[in-house]
Amino acid sequence: MISFPSKQAQVQTTIFTKMSALAAEHGALNLSQGFPGFDCSEELQALLAFYSKGHNQYAPMAGVPVFKQSIADKTSLFYGIDLDASKEVTVVSGATEALFCAIHCCVFPGDEVIMFDPSYDAYDPAVRLAGGIPIHLSMDAKNGFQIDWEELARTITPKTRAIMVNSPHNPTGSIWTENDLEALAEIVKGTNILIISDEVYEHIVFDGQKHYSVLLHPELRQRSFVCGSFGKTYHITGWKIGYCLAPEYLTKEFQKLHQWVTFSSATPLQYALSDYLKEPSHYLGLSDFYQRKRDLFASAFEGSKWKLLPSHGSFFQCMDYQEISDEKDVDLAERLTKEIKVASIPISVFYEKAPGDTILRFCFAKSDEVLLEAAHRLVQL
Ligand code: PMP
Ligand code: GLN
Repeated sequence: MISFPSKQAQVQTTIFTKMSALAAEHGALNLSQGFPGFDCSEELQALLAFYSKGHNQYAPMAGVPVFKQSIADKTSLFYGIDLDASKEVTVVSGATEALFCAIHCCVFPGDEVIMFDPSYDAYDPAVRLAGGIPIHLSMDAKNGFQIDWEELARTITPKTRAIMVNSPHNPTGSIWTENDLEALAEIVKGTNILIISDEVYEHIVFDGQKHYSVLLHPELRQRSFVCGSFGKTYHITGWKIGYCLAPEYLTKEFQKLHQWVTFSSATPLQYALSDYLKEPSHYLGLSDFYQRKRDLFASAFEGSKWKLLPSHGSFFQCMDYQEISDEKDVDLAERLTKEIKVASIPISVFYEKAPGDTILRFCFAKSDEVLLEAAHRLVQL
């Protein structure tokens, strides 16, 4: 073996990979890793088949122009925000890439990047790889995973380069309100702090509520990278395609990084999605679609010992098992996968310092049969 220092000595394989592998090994219903248990529409499949003829070479580095325009048009329709498709939109190979490039194009060694735990697992390692220092603030389950704005204000230092935002939130399903945008804007006003906003679940918000993108607040928009993904919106997590929306000066820096990471994203996918995006009903119906699944899943736990936490958006349901077991969440998730054959995600892995909560995350982007069968097994505990 060649002596080689690990660049990520503390980093392990992601919990999603681990739990999906364990689910497969034990033949468990996989409600762990967040991906739909059903196919994308036949219309989208047909578009991809159509565009796979004659579109098999590199796409332009920042994205196929008609696709960037379709993304800008969707943003205009959905948020009432007009973007310059040629200067403010970049097509990427999934939001994971968008997050990585956004972090790496602005974080210098020693810079602090604030994130709110439980935080999606891709943020911290990307900051560290850039030489930055992740600063983890905790959100409290008892408080509905709300952000403590006073604590955030106290945490900001001259070294704060960026704040990571994520609404609808993975893993908790909490969402931001207009007041949250206002509170963040008030704190960053007059500073050079950038915002990296992970909005991959922008089209999955329940109970008639609305998604408040940072794009909607001028103070935030001028300093934000907004990371989006078609994986969640069109049931195509395997296509790995998304976008980054940012003002021109940020987009320029973002694209300098993107050109070295993937250069460009798959061309036929871009043409297919460009056409598909033109029909708004394809994403406008998504909240209702998932709300029905959330409610179906939840109804199966009525009268059980599981305590369901509110899920306002995303396709995740967090459930407290305090009355069922005193095991650690990691141990329980593993045991349930092996014994009753239902896989979930333990919440503690999304914290720098886990608060000792007894919460598992279940993905309800599954067929009704799978959801009911999983619930049936879980309520018997
Ligand atoms: N951010 C969050 C909060 C996610 O849940 C996911 C994936 N599920 C991503 C980013 C990554 O998205 P993509 O699959 O498009 O890379
Ligand atoms: N975002 C998905 C989840 O939260 C997983 C994505 C991945 O496995 N990288 O489950």
